[in-house]
Amino acid sequence: MPFKIDLATVLLLHTTSLIAGALGILNIRRKSPVSRGLGRLAFALTSLACGATLAGLGEQAAIPHWLWTHLSLLLGTSGYALLWAGMRAMSGRRRALRSVIVLVPVVWFLAGIVTEFTATDALRASAFHLTAVSFLAASAVEIWKDRRSEPLHSRLALVACLAASAAIYATRLVCIVGDIRTSFDMATAFFLQIFCNFAIAILVIALARERAEADLRLAAQTDALTGVGNRRWFLERLPPRPLPGSAVAILDLDRFKEINDRFGHPAGDRVLTAFAKTVQGHLRKGDVFARYGGEEFVLFLPAVSAGRAMEIAERLRKRAEGLAIDIDGLPVRITVSIGIAWVDTGTRPWEAWIQAADRACYAAKRAGRNRVTRHDGQAMAA
Ligand code: GH3
Ligand code: MG
Ligand code: MG
Repeated sequence: MPFKIDLATVLLLHTTSLIAGALGILNIRRKSPVSRGLGRLAFALTSLACGATLAGLGEQAAIPHWLWTHLSLLLGTSGYALLWAGMRAMSGRRRALRSVIVLVPVVWFLAGIVTEFTATDALRASAFHLTAVSFLAASAVEIWKDRRSEPLHSRLALVACLAASAAIYATRLVCIVGDIRTSFDMATAFFLQIFCNFAIAILVIALARERAEADLRLAAQTDALTGVGNRRWFLERLPPRPLPGSAVAILDLDRFKEINDRFGHPAGDRVLTAFAKTVQGHLRKGDVFARYGGEEFVLFLPAVSAGRAMEIAERLRKRAEGLAIDIDGLPVRITVSIGIAWVDTGTRPWEAWIQAADRACYAAKRAGRNRVTRHDGQAMAA
């Protein structure tokens, strides 16, 4: 460093970054509807802050040596173990190995009491650095793992900061173990960690925010009952202009009111969910299926011939017919009428094709239900 600051001051400044991070994370936790792992992360930073404060005071000989060496090692190693647990919880992997989180700091602490190795600066620092490197690297892996299943912008930056923090400690560990004298001393390393601490806290907050926004977006596009997309989601998924050589289908459950009347509304809900799941499970990649409203569903089939669209719809009709939904021990059966509009020109808007599919569905109802009808009148009877 071009300027010199002593270790005691750096450690106390280090505390500031940890406390600021913990407060920021607690604040987002209070506002966030889903706060997986945030409490643990705030607790981890607080534990690290307490450890750094004790070490800083100890370096200034403000407290007895035996007291700060044992306690700062316990708090520091617990802090990084908790950080890993918090990152795991943030990633939805709740079962962080409790034994590891508790055992690692306790074993170091007890070993320190028994062997007094904590009295030697190099040994104490090595134990702390080794623990910090391991848990920081493990934390980076936890966050990295979900890059595909949950691609959030702040994810990779958080991985980079956790890895950078681990790398700083690892470099120092090598210097301590190898007794290498370098300008990259302990004070410089902790000075750089201050930036890492701020960055980690800010990116944890950013990740929690991004996640909350993504959850809200998803909720606004998902049908709460069946879990499939809703009308809004469906309309957003359609190509901007109708593509000739694709199809839209309306699927309306037959005499659904009777199911509600006979078995009750909650049973009707279960039937709707079972039907939606069945259709969803038998679609091609790229097909778009949603609940359009009530007991009516909508399906977009890209890149299909008219004949293939009819075949797909017929297959779905048969699947629905084959369903036996268990309601209080009784197998409830359903049928569905499907209207299809096969897009043969790009000049009419989507609404026109959806209406055409709806009219075809009505035609299927009039013709006796439980059948697939195309908007030009071609039908595949049951
Ligand atoms: P059709 O064969 O002509 O389509 O007859 P239908 O009884 O299915 O049609 P109708 O439009 O007469 O009734 C639809 C019923 O769907 C009435 C409504 O209570 C029920 N429904 C709509 N949304 C829900 C829901 O979310 N849950 C339940 N259980 N029922 C619903
Ligand atoms: Mg109906
Ligand atoms: Mg209806």
